[in-house]
Amino acid sequence: MKAWLQRFMYGRYGADQLNMALMILFLVIALTTPFLKNNIPLILNLVLIVLIYFRMFSRNISKRYAENQKFLKLWNPIRNKFHFTIKHTKERKDYRFYKCPSCKQKVRVPKGRGEITITCPKCHTKFDKRT
Ligand SMILES: [Zn+2]
Repeated sequence: MKAWLQRFMYGRYGADQLNMALMILFLVIALTTPFLKNNIPLILNLVLIVLIYFRMFSRNISKRYAENQKFLKLWNPIRNKFHFTIKHTKERKDYRFYKCPSCKQKVRVPKGRGEITITCPKCHTKFDKRT
């Protein structure tokens, strides 16, 4: 069975990030829309599943690869922004953020230490802040 699958997939494109995204979209539509009284989500999902299988079993690997690269170019900035926001929100609880007065470098210091002298890690300027 596994050997058969390997032979079948040989020279075919397989899964990539774009297909993963399409599958997630498919699942979201499948889970959130059954209570809607129209067929548009159903048709959309049918199109999605055809597209997913078409891309997975495609032998035109360079074209599928190019599609995925286009997708990543759009998606990566969104993902990075999202990750940054989560990280920043988590850190806000325990840290305060200051800008160095001379070089504008962002400096992260632990909260609740009272009056402290911060040394900029980039230009070594010292400045006083309350945390
Ligand atoms: Zn500095």
